Amino acid sequence: MRPGTGSSRSGTQWRNWAGNQSAWPAEVAQAKDVGDVATVVASAAARGLRVRPVGAGHSFTPAAVTDGVMLRLDHLAGVTGVERATGRVRVLAGTRLRHLNPALEAAGLALPNLGDIDRQSLSGAIATGTHGTGARLHGIASAVRGLTMVLADGSVLECSAHQHPDVFEAARVGLGALGVVTEVELQCVPSFRLHAVERPEPLLPLLERVQEEAEGNDHFELYWFPHTGRTLTKRNNRVGSEPDPGPLAPWRAWVDDELLANGVFELANRASARWPSVVPRLNQLTARALAAREFTDDSWRVFCSNRAVRFVESEYAVPRAVVADVLLELRDWVDRHDEALPFPVEVRFLAADDVWLSTAYERDTAYVAVHQYRRMDHRRYFAAFEAIVAEHSGRPHWGKLHTLDAARLRPLYPRFDDFLRVREELDPGGLFRNSYLDQVLGTR
Ligand SMILES: Cc1cc2nc3c(=O)[nH]c(=O)nc-3n(C[C@H](O)[C@H](O)[C@H](O)COP(=O)(O)OP(=O)(O)OC[C@H]3O[C@@H](n4cnc5c(N)ncnc54)[C@H](O)[C@@H]3O)c2cc1C
Repeated sequence: MRPGTGSSRSGTQWRNWAGNQSAWPAEVAQAKDVGDVATVVASAAARGLRVRPVGAGHSFTPAAVTDGVMLRLDHLAGVTGVERATGRVRVLAGTRLRHLNPALEAAGLALPNLGDIDRQSLSGAIATGTHGTGARLHGIASAVRGLTMVLADGSVLECSAHQHPDVFEAARVGLGALGVVTEVELQCVPSFRLHAVERPEPLLPLLERVQEEAEGNDHFELYWFPHTGRTLTKRNNRVGSEPDPGPLAPWRAWVDDELLANGVFELANRASARWPSVVPRLNQLTARALAAREFTDDSWRVFCSNRAVRFVESEYAVPRAVVADVLLELRDWVDRHDEALPFPVEVRFLAADDVWLSTAYERDTAYVAVHQYRRMDHRRYFAAFEAIVAEHSGRPHWGKLHTLDAARLRPLYPRFDDFLRVREELDPGGLFRNSYLDQVLGTR
């Protein structure tokens, strides 16, 4: 480590969570405050190196990959201010969601909606448009009310809807292309509890009423098991202070969420990788073995699970109205091909928002996500999925596998060129470029 900036010649390989992306950064730097970030950025610029901030490495795309300076923000973490009256909090960018959620709860607050896991950094989650499910709700970036960023010239800029509004609109889902976010102001809601009802259901009748289910529940999602006509549904609804079933017994939570969802599932996937022909029968068994369960707990404990089985994923946002068509087309493809798919397909919902590069920009959205176990080949399946969603104006999740480039993304995002204009103003020399950004934003 070099003193001051906390940077070192890396000589070590970086890998993302899924293990499908790796990098050999020229240097790895650690920053503990905004001054460190500015020093790292200025020093890299002076030496002609590019800079890439990195969070928890949970993106499946090469979003965080660099051969320049990889900037770690793990020490730039913590809640720096809480305004209880308004529910506004200030949080340092490297804070992991798993630390943020209990800190918010201690202040009587919560994020209105969260994704499946809580390992991500707040800044990585915002930069890539991380979302949960809820047809009347939005992704995490919509809760952002202000951002502090270190720009390519080493200066510090604060932006909000009133201060540099165009930078703010672009930076909320900014892909790490505009600068290094160091602090975020979030609009939270009073902490709340969720009543969770999970149960197996047949696919076809569920698809017939899927729009009502999305509208009729605060957070509705479904998991369809390929090679079967079965699903697992999850309905999470807010509860008041009335008596409720309470949390799962610790033994049940362990059996379901650790033993079955992680331990046994890993073994099943290893078997699938070795003997792909067993997968359809295995999925039938899994889908039949699923037991209904019902419990109530703090919102973030219900939203977030531990995912120990490593996989790769592609997820596309499609107009909500076409979600059943997409699933039926995917099912047809699975039925016609000899592809072993041990992971369920996940379907979630979100309301239209106004964040320029949000996958839900100005359209009510359904998310369809496909997964493949890390030891199995995903390419044919993901390509078929991508071809299906392309027919429905699908927008790829910025942190999940896809092959779209700037030419194909531009018509999907009405504010695409506004985003590029802001980027050109803030980073004319391309200090924050990497191969992924060149692919999705163009090489200018
Ligand atoms: C098991 C698993 C479950 C997941 N579940 C969900 C889910 O439910 N919903 C969902 O939407 N996504 C989900 N994801 C995807 C994940 O939320 C996103 O990929 C997210 O970006 C990961 O955050 P991170 O901290 O790991 O970011 P990284 O992958 O480390 O970085 C992502 C991007 O953010 C940029 N970045 C990071 N910090 C900064 C900063 N300070 N300033 C500027 N740019 C920055 C990086 O440069 C990079 O471009 C899941 C991923 C995994 C592996």
